[in-house]
Amino acid sequence: MKWLSTFWRNIQKPTSDGFSPDASANSLRAPVIIPRDQHSISRKHISEGALKVIARLRAAKFQAFLVGGGVRDLLLGIRPKDFDVATDARPEQIRELFRSSRIIGRRFKIVHVRFGSETIEVTTFRASHNIDDADSEPTKNTQAIRSDSGMLLRDNVFGSVEEDAIRRDFTINALYYTTENFAVYDYTNGMQDIENRLIRIIGDAETRYREDPVRMLRAVRFAAKLDFAIEEATARPIRELAHLLTDISSARMFDEVLKLFMGGFAEATFQHMQTHGLFAPLFPATAAAIDAGQPLAEELILRALRNTDLRITEGKPITPAFIYAALLWPALQQQMAEISQQGVQESLAIQQAIHITLERQQRHTGIPRRFSQPMREIWELQWRLPRRDARRIQNLLEHPRLRAAYDFLLLREQSGEELDDIGAWWTQFLSADEEQRPQLLRQLAPPSGGGGRKRRPRRARVEQ
Ligand code: ATP
Ligand code: MG
Repeated sequence: MKWLSTFWRNIQKPTSDGFSPDASANSLRAPVIIPRDQHSISRKHISEGALKVIARLRAAKFQAFLVGGGVRDLLLGIRPKDFDVATDARPEQIRELFRSSRIIGRRFKIVHVRFGSETIEVTTFRASHNIDDADSEPTKNTQAIRSDSGMLLRDNVFGSVEEDAIRRDFTINALYYTTENFAVYDYTNGMQDIENRLIRIIGDAETRYREDPVRMLRAVRFAAKLDFAIEEATARPIRELAHLLTDISSARMFDEVLKLFMGGFAEATFQHMQTHGLFAPLFPATAAAIDAGQPLAEELILRALRNTDLRITEGKPITPAFIYAALLWPALQQQMAEISQQGVQESLAIQQAIHITLERQQRHTGIPRRFSQPMREIWELQWRLPRRDARRIQNLLEHPRLRAAYDFLLLREQSGEELDDIGAWWTQFLSADEEQRPQLLRQLAPPSGGGGRKRRPRRARVEQ
């Protein structure tokens, strides 16, 4: 990106009035305008839907910009996941312009406009505001609501594009592209941070994280996805404020967890989360198991996430149930050990441990039933796969979750768990034909059992 360095050198002199990276926010200022011939965004790379939304808003005499991840990713030569549009039209006015649109969100109203299979997120410019403002202006008071800890519970104070820029999370997410002259408008030095590959929060980091703790997760997610560093002042308060994530609704947290681990950069994201103390508030029982020195716990998670990333690259399907099953496996193991110590029969202990593990996690990240049920099955099957006799195998072969459970078993073995090569046996069995299978079963006698863990007490094994 040579053009950028030259560009910045050239423009920084005339606009040097407080134009240091630290001045990157709180105060409104005129944008730096990067003309078409000095940036790499071309209309060709913008979706048809986004261009149509912008065109129609502009035809109705509203302002309309492409903003957020779309602009950021295009500048970096990455294909954007989706496109966000910012406008001075109010949500109701946007609704009127687009037949196939609906207003979503209460905390933060946005309009989803559908074009075939594409959804464009259209957001009205927001103003940032502090508590004093809110007190002095009755309308703002009802449109922006904060909790005692400074968290924004509602944020529907509309404003100008300049105000909109500084209420965004990171400088690289606050670049505005317009089809009026195809220029990029930069209010927060975002271009420079793109060039320096830096995630920098807009404004005071602690205040911005208190307003919305999810921004801490977004910082590590973008750092992993873009392979950017997190700027020092942006990173510094995270460890201390990570606990604020426990105040976020478990439904929102579930969505965020999916974004963290299903975006193709799960392994790097997990490592950033560990570095900044962000994993423990989301998965406390797993973090405790890792801290307690449970061998292989972290290895299993890392491998699961690496597999997930690889599958995404290869265009293979992935499921939250499998990822969650891995993320919580160390917690389940810990629970299982505690319950087994009380002398509870194994089949009962498994059920109890699963129940407790899921129930505790629900409080932190929520897990919809359509995912918790398959997770439960993947886990239960870990104790059934080692028990191989003709009758049981027949039942297992009909089980809809056999494949996922088998993959999970392999994952455990690959991460170093010693399971008597059951994985290899299943690999052979699943690829064998009808004639070979009875033979493979005969070779097994006497059947081995017990969840595959050698140290499991014998008494518990025979009872299932
Ligand atoms: P991607 O869609 O690739 O995950 P994105 O940056 O587009 O990344 P979105 O969640 O689509 O992320 O949000 C669009 C834009 O809205 C962001 O780029 C940012 O400007 C703003 N934004 C989103 N979430 C927040 C937040 N919690 N606080 C402040 N601004 C936010
Ligand atoms: Mg986006």
